[in-house]
Amino acid sequence: MLPRENILVVDLTSGRTRREEIPPELLHAYLGGRGLGVRLLRGRHTLPPYDPAMPLIFATGPLCGTAAPTSARLSVVSRSPLTGTVYDCSAGGRFAWRLRASGLLAVLVEGRSPRPVALAITSAGEEIVPADALWGMEIGDTVRALSSRGSVAAIGPAGENGVLFANVMMGEGNAVGRGGLGAVMGSKNLKAVAVDGDRRTPVADRDRLDRARADAMRLFRASPVIFGELGIAAFGTPALVDLMRQRRMAPTENFRRTVFEESSAYSGPAIRAAYGARKDGCFGCPIQCKKSGTDGRHLPEYETVSHFGALNGISDIHAIVRSNDVCNATGMDTISAAATLSAWGEARGRFPSPDEVVPLLRDIAARRGEGGLLAEGSRRVAEALGRPGLSMTVKSLELPAYDPRGAYGMALAYCTSNRGGCHLRAYPISHEILRKPVASDRFSFSGKARMIKIAEDVNAAIDSLVACKFAFFGASLEEYAELLSGATGGHHTPQDLKAIGERVCLTERFYNAENGFARADDGLPERFFTEPGSSGEGIEVPPIDRARFEEELTKYYRIRGLADDGSFPDPAFLSGQP
Ligand code: SF4
Repeated sequence: MLPRENILVVDLTSGRTRREEIPPELLHAYLGGRGLGVRLLRGRHTLPPYDPAMPLIFATGPLCGTAAPTSARLSVVSRSPLTGTVYDCSAGGRFAWRLRASGLLAVLVEGRSPRPVALAITSAGEEIVPADALWGMEIGDTVRALSSRGSVAAIGPAGENGVLFANVMMGEGNAVGRGGLGAVMGSKNLKAVAVDGDRRTPVADRDRLDRARADAMRLFRASPVIFGELGIAAFGTPALVDLMRQRRMAPTENFRRTVFEESSAYSGPAIRAAYGARKDGCFGCPIQCKKSGTDGRHLPEYETVSHFGALNGISDIHAIVRSNDVCNATGMDTISAAATLSAWGEARGRFPSPDEVVPLLRDIAARRGEGGLLAEGSRRVAEALGRPGLSMTVKSLELPAYDPRGAYGMALAYCTSNRGGCHLRAYPISHEILRKPVASDRFSFSGKARMIKIAEDVNAAIDSLVACKFAFFGASLEEYAELLSGATGGHHTPQDLKAIGERVCLTERFYNAENGFARADDGLPERFFTEPGSSGEGIEVPPIDRARFEEELTKYYRIRGLADDGSFPDPAFLSGQP
């Protein structure tokens, strides 16, 4: 059994708040983070994202506040205005740690305040405070204005203005990104949440936790992807720029090509040479993959440099870093912003120049001029321009920087992801490109259905713990189950965690099905089946074989226990779950 935990429920319509115990059976079945958030949405998962009754849930996990590596994280869960799916995203930082230290595992915000407000939480209680003076502020100013109240999660102008890919930004620069949960927060007139807890998180068996931590650390140190010479601890995720170029799977000019000859201009070493690469990772994380420049600015991640770079045909590293700065300041997702500009660029016959990007991003955040349309994301932009085929999305979520023609497991995983075209639900790149923990032929569908199903379940468990997926380039659920046992005093096995992950994945899929999602939504844009990538240097990048893709998708459904059309054989599935 897990220890007793509390949730804060905030009704912004009435201004009332209450702390209550989370039913222990829900913790047992869903842990925390993504799993708990998804469970707490039940019954309201078919509401429109901006309905005042739609909850916005901040949930940490049972390892947060302990010495378990990479566990000072939380998930934010709601329904996405961009995709219409159930949506979660996790982020690291002191906010999660302080939330747990305030005696709370989670905060559920519902209702809509009649005026802008902020929520301030301490161990002693919480208050809803006016935030009219903060409305319109960028993230940095908002965080500074609330710094006396602890760690801050805030929206910027993009969230206030309903940009469909607006982020919730953590004060230390981490983003709850992609699906527009910043716009859900803005629809509630909630500018920020500040938290300043001071309680110690109890650990049931410190020796056991310490031993498990030492095991995990040993595996991190042995992982070339984490601590290798060219690993993410040294260069951050831009370490992938050169690798994706070499594998000929770097999405270029709205996925028309898969090699951008000038990508070395913004590779990990190039960014380090231009800006420095100080460690600037999430609070308490031993890996520290995030980097900041010598001037203190947060430097962009792999997907950001690749999409503001290759996807828009831009090699100017300073323009790319400035684009990242503007997205962080206004609270916008970099992948979706860059991909939307790229689709729009192809539709108008010219990708944006380096000088155009920053003003366009500011227009998007303000929904000004052309920005009003671009704020809707690439699917709606492409449809409005009469070129729906130019939106490189799955379930309206812009695809990140791994071209699916170069990794067939990734192609399948984009489609089966419950939150749309996301690389992190299964991350088969680990097998197909990084060749860990076991290598797999990237140009074959064989075995990919099972690989994706297992990885989705494992990652849902990781998101419910809540730990960082990068830790799993070294460690496995084995070490994290042991960390959990040390933290709680219970006996948790990797199989238990995987079963929780499976329950979470199925619940999300069931919600999506109730919102009208079906097999037709589990598909890739036509371009990937009809146009080749950039072959060369002995690597052939043909279009994906549609018949094999569909065959493997059917196989995935069967392994998941679904019907061949992707539906649930048991319409009462949800009522059978805790
Ligand atoms: S590995 Fe990177 S993203 Fe993950 S917790 Fe550490 S610093 Fe944050």
